[in-house]
Amino acid sequence: MRYSWPMLDQTNPLGPAASTVRHVGRHNRRVILHALRVHGNLSRAELARFTGLTPQAVANIVDTLMTAGLVREAGRRKAQRGQPPIAIEIANDGGYAVGVLIDATSFHAVAAGIGGELIEMREGPVPDAIEADWLDFVAGIHTEFGVRFGADRCLGIGLVTPGPFDIDWPGVPTPGAIPQLQVRGIADQLAARTGTEVLLENDAYAAALGEKLYGQATEFSDFFYIYVGEGVGGGIVIRGEPYRGTRGNAGEFGHLIVDPNGPQCYCGNRGCLGEYLSLRSMRDFLRDAEAAGEDRDRAMDRWVARASDALSVGIAGIENLFDPEIVVIGGAAPVPLLERLAGELGELRASVRQDVGRQRLRVSALGERSAALGASALPILAAINV
Ligand SMILES: [Zn+2]
Repeated sequence: MRYSWPMLDQTNPLGPAASTVRHVGRHNRRVILHALRVHGNLSRAELARFTGLTPQAVANIVDTLMTAGLVREAGRRKAQRGQPPIAIEIANDGGYAVGVLIDATSFHAVAAGIGGELIEMREGPVPDAIEADWLDFVAGIHTEFGVRFGADRCLGIGLVTPGPFDIDWPGVPTPGAIPQLQVRGIADQLAARTGTEVLLENDAYAAALGEKLYGQATEFSDFFYIYVGEGVGGGIVIRGEPYRGTRGNAGEFGHLIVDPNGPQCYCGNRGCLGEYLSLRSMRDFLRDAEAAGEDRDRAMDRWVARASDALSVGIAGIENLFDPEIVVIGGAAPVPLLERLAGELGELRASVRQDVGRQRLRVSALGERSAALGASALPILAAINV
């Protein structure tokens, strides 16, 4: 089986800009780690064959990853003839990373190994948003995992929460978000408190990363992740890498305007997609319908039809902008609800991706785990960004 993470074009006629060189290096290290995760252990020659990288490049990357303690030599294999090859494997005892997803109602925390294997998962309600000391709360999770798995083996904390960051909307705070965490500075404060690296991203970005590494999108290099939760967010993956935007706020899909005369959104505009597709919009819709004496199942049918229609508009917009291989829908919403929304879409609206016979939308099977797992991948990826 040839490993399917596509190679970047390394023959740029304009000459490699420094950032491109760094990007290629990072990408290739990730490719090697991913190949080891998929295949268990591989010799350097097999790594070259599976990834398409040159033997020299593989040797250099393996050296770098071994120095960082992320991979190790697993011993020699038996060979028919000649020198038996040395197998390389992920150093599962090389450390773990903490991933924490927090929104206004609940938290999910995972400890995951370098290969992405889930070591421990915790979830529960969050403390009162007004009174909580969030630094204490996240530091407590870090300490608890540290006691069990060794604080000195922790590679860092990936903290994810609804975005956007460092933005003041004119209206009420983002639904589902905790304003104190929507500030980039919180990561530095938490790093100082815990003595470990802290990376802060929005939940949809992390979910897209989790889906790319462990979920429905491992074979795709260009895709869009729609995050349905209290609000609606989005994660963009281009050439295998999540795209952050200038301030880490790219992909705010929930504020795509689907009807300029639609309901008022807290961002100041009207008819944003989040007003149709979010869990909050569903609850409000059902509450109003119930107050008007409508049967709940009937009201739910009407909400799903309206939400699917708005989603179809959104998907056409994504496809026309990015021409992705696939759109994945997931997030905090229950998977059966997402499947129902996807099922109601029927024939999608026309776009540049209307090629017949190819799937355009896929439902995430990881659910909320995609964001927490993506969060735990942030420090691991930072460790290989050497
Ligand atoms: Zn809006």
